[in-house]
Amino acid sequence: MSDQTRNICLPTKGLILIIGPMFCGKSTLLLRHLVQAEKIELRTLTLKPKTDTSVRGTHISTHDGQSRTCHLISDDVISLEGLIFHENPQAIFVDEVQFLSPKIMAKISEISLTRLVVMAGLAEDFRGKDFGALPEIIRGGKPLKILHLTAACARCGSPALHTQRLTQGKNQISPGGAEQYEPRCDECWSPQPPEGSVSWNV
Ligand SMILES: [Zn+2]
Repeated sequence: MSDQTRNICLPTKGLILIIGPMFCGKSTLLLRHLVQAEKIELRTLTLKPKTDTSVRGTHISTHDGQSRTCHLISDDVISLEGLIFHENPQAIFVDEVQFLSPKIMAKISEISLTRLVVMAGLAEDFRGKDFGALPEIIRGGKPLKILHLTAACARCGSPALHTQRLTQGKNQISPGGAEQYEPRCDECWSPQPPEGSVSWNV
C-alpha cells in the first residue's frame, strides 16, 4: 500500500474530511493517510464509534479487505480526553463519524486546532438528509480540506454521490453491507424505500 500514499499530504494540525456514499473507498483513503503518518513516524491514534454495530469490532476494515485495529469511542467526552492525554497522538484517524454525537464531534473538531485529525464518514443518509454531525462541521467551515469521493453507480456506472437503501424501513440507522445498500447517481437514486415496502417504523 505504501506506493499509494505518495500523494497523501499530512499537515501538522487541522481537520481533513473524507466523505462520499457507501462503497466509495472512504475507509481505504483513511487508512492510506494512516499508513503515510506511520511512515513518517507520527504518533497515531485510530478511532471509531462504539455504536457502529457491524461485525468488524475493534477494527477499521475496508471493502477491499484491509484492516487495522482501533479504539472504540462512546458518547463520553471525558473518556475521549483521557485517551488523547494518555496516547498524546500527533495524528488522529476516525472512521464512520456519522455515528458520533454532536458533542463528541465538537470535541474532535476542537482537538484538530492543535493536532491533525482525519475523519471519514457519510454526510447524508439514504434519503439525502443530514447524517450525524458531519454536515454541521462542514457548514461551520472548520475543515482544512474536504475530500469528496464518488463511487460508480450500481445501475448505470455514472459517478454516484448517493447511497440507495435496498431494503424496507426508513430508520436512519440500519447497519448493513452490499445486501442492503448500493451507490447510485442522481438519475438512478431514489430516497424512497423500495416498492412494496410496508415497514414505516420510525
Ligand atoms: Zn446511475
